[in-house]
Amino acid sequence: MRRGLPALVVAAVVALAANSSAPAQTAGTGDKLNVVASFSILHDWATIVGGDRVAVSALVGPAADAHVYVPTPRDAKFVGAARLIVVNGLGFEGWMDRLVQASATRAPVIVASAGVVPAGIDPHAWQSVRNAEIYVSNIRDGLMRADPQGRVTYEANAAAYMQELARLDADIRRAVDTIPPARRKVITTHDAFGYFAADYGITFIAAQGVSTETEASARDIARIIRAIREQNIPALFFENAVDPRLVRRIAAETGVRIGGTLFSDALTAPPGPAATYVDMMRHNIREIVDALK
Ligand SMILES: [Zn+2]
Repeated sequence: MRRGLPALVVAAVVALAANSSAPAQTAGTGDKLNVVASFSILHDWATIVGGDRVAVSALVGPAADAHVYVPTPRDAKFVGAARLIVVNGLGFEGWMDRLVQASATRAPVIVASAGVVPAGIDPHAWQSVRNAEIYVSNIRDGLMRADPQGRVTYEANAAAYMQELARLDADIRRAVDTIPPARRKVITTHDAFGYFAADYGITFIAAQGVSTETEASARDIARIIRAIREQNIPALFFENAVDPRLVRRIAAETGVRIGGTLFSDALTAPPGPAATYVDMMRHNIREIVDALK
């Protein structure tokens, strides 16, 4: 029941907004286009494509869990002042629609995942680099509509970044090729890597579903332990922004090694190992290859 934010709470949040302090992730103001992104990965992309013309803030910052996020007075203030709002969609930010409504903003809201082929109810479409290209195109187009004078800048920044994404995709494929096919299996806490799995041919088995809202049951844990034994799964992974106790418990019961931490739903604050989307994906594939090779 954490998904819905009662209207009264939102009203209180908006009323308090005038007294809130500045967010951690905001660039200078001046005459820059004020962009609000729902979480850290969209913050990264809006910053890259927007360059010097934009000031981007993220509602859910590094290392935080957007699934169970509860908006603050500061968030209502920043949504209210935004000239462009960027969200993931696919049901990821269940709290966002009401926050946007309550803030009375008239800024356009871009659903950055628009055009992605959804995999059921899984919102983590950014875990596919091909999908990332769709996200970046949508952000570029939204910036051009909100700030037509910046068109040349946004097109150039997006085009340069698309080349980086193409290199990243090729590098991940080459890295997966170095893992023996029978060992391309890992366990994670929540089911955040379905799009990655579909693109790169690694099987992910998760104790929790596609959201962290529901905790794993005894039956879920028994299913994971059985899978580890029957399928010879070589490694377990922590995820940033997700409680590590479940993974520790499964490791203790099965003796399977913990391969490290994968970044699924949030970046790290700089200078962490996943301060950008590209760094996050490179970190993840390095950890996976090290654990499975
Ligand atoms: Zn998630």
